[in-house]
Amino acid sequence: MRIAVLGAGYVGLVSGACFAEFGIQVCIVDTDPAKVEALQRGVIPIYEPGLDKLVVENQADGRLSFTTRLEEAMEGADCVFLAVGTPSRRGDGHADLQYVFAAAEGVARAAKKDLVLVTKSTVPVGTGKKIKEIVQRVRPDLTIHVASNPEFLREGNAIGDFMRPDRVVLGAESEAAFATLRRLYRPLYLIETPIVATSLETAELIKYAANAFLATKITFINEMADLCEKVGADVHDVARGMGLDGRIGRKFLHAGPGYGGSCFPKDTLALAMTARDAGSPVRLVETTIAVNDARKEAMADRIIAALGGEVAGKSIGILGVTFKPETDDMRDAPSLVILPKLVAAGAKVVVHDPQPHQARQSLPGAVTFVATPLEAVTGADAVALLTEWNEYRSMAPERLRGAMRGKVVLDLRNAWDPEAMREAGLDYSGIGRP
Ligand code: NAD
Repeated sequence: MRIAVLGAGYVGLVSGACFAEFGIQVCIVDTDPAKVEALQRGVIPIYEPGLDKLVVENQADGRLSFTTRLEEAMEGADCVFLAVGTPSRRGDGHADLQYVFAAAEGVARAAKKDLVLVTKSTVPVGTGKKIKEIVQRVRPDLTIHVASNPEFLREGNAIGDFMRPDRVVLGAESEAAFATLRRLYRPLYLIETPIVATSLETAELIKYAANAFLATKITFINEMADLCEKVGADVHDVARGMGLDGRIGRKFLHAGPGYGGSCFPKDTLALAMTARDAGSPVRLVETTIAVNDARKEAMADRIIAALGGEVAGKSIGILGVTFKPETDDMRDAPSLVILPKLVAAGAKVVVHDPQPHQARQSLPGAVTFVATPLEAVTGADAVALLTEWNEYRSMAPERLRGAMRGKVVLDLRNAWDPEAMREAGLDYSGIGRP
């Protein structure tokens, strides 16, 4: 089989490379010439563990190629995937569908034969139907089967998630579309991956419902953490005690600085807007959004309060700024709210992150980037851990104490052992722990 993928971002690149690994002929097209040129040379524009090897090997084997020309990508393709961005629309929080619609129209214009057009991007309920209208208007002479195949991969573990997903969701209106998608995912039948085959609308909503549920779960444990701090309980044990209940599950019960990333913030917002428009508001999700936004602000206040309410001229070492470990993605990272607030309050902010490429562009110019965690903490009045990269977990408390000027340590991810930190003489506080 031969497929084209529009978009060489986190989702398009990972999906394309994984389909190629399944033995399918894949051509990925992106409108960004610099990205395509780098990929053609085997240089991966994003950080995702294992992706460079997968791309280079499949390129060398002739199953994976990159282009800026849609017609070239679609040459002989039975199936075309849309994996373009769907960011929040400026001003109102609805998903901005301009890239999806433009891509769909481009595919219809370039099509030389009947094909299946699959939306992998996260799109609001009803988008598939609109895509169908577009392609039918542009190409009444062809049968373009519109399908939805939302992607659930997590950055940092994207290849594993794609190759061994909990489920694959397929939404379509024709047997031909289901048959093509089932063929593409055939390698997953061997590992008995459940396939949820449903309507376009249901598939579209499953993705938002799943993300909103996970965002709500995180926000729930964050509020429990706040309560723990007031009543002297330990959120770590509360989460464990809750999570061992099979009906609840242990995942996504880690208290922290609030969820961020390229999906949860924009997807919860888009779902809330869709639901309002449909006259069926999702109040739980709306509250989750508000609580999470306030939390990021509160984290900056917490750091300032730990330094006695005054940070002007003080040095704060920040460990980790990406929205989570094992990615370079900075989209909606809590650090984007916390750091500007510290800078505005007059603090000298020194940052270390193992993948600082995007952070350098998105954080305020007043922030100083350093090459090692030790440099970030040296001479600091306070150290705040924002993203739990493995290399920070193993940092020896005595070493930290020895390098710092002050003693204040804020562990916003509960990555360190509170007792060991206090034994080293540090004024340690985590999230929701006594
Ligand atoms: P991204 O911004 O990293 O990549 C999008 C790419 O599409 C960019 O490289 C852009 O240049 C390209 N593009 C835009 N218009 C194009 C066109 N007409 N033709 C070809 N390329 C075009 O985005 P992403 O993080 O990969 O997300 C893509 C979609 O997948 C979004 O809807 C997102 O919500 C969803 N999603 C993302 C993740 C994730 O973890 N990042 C997980 C699941 C779902």
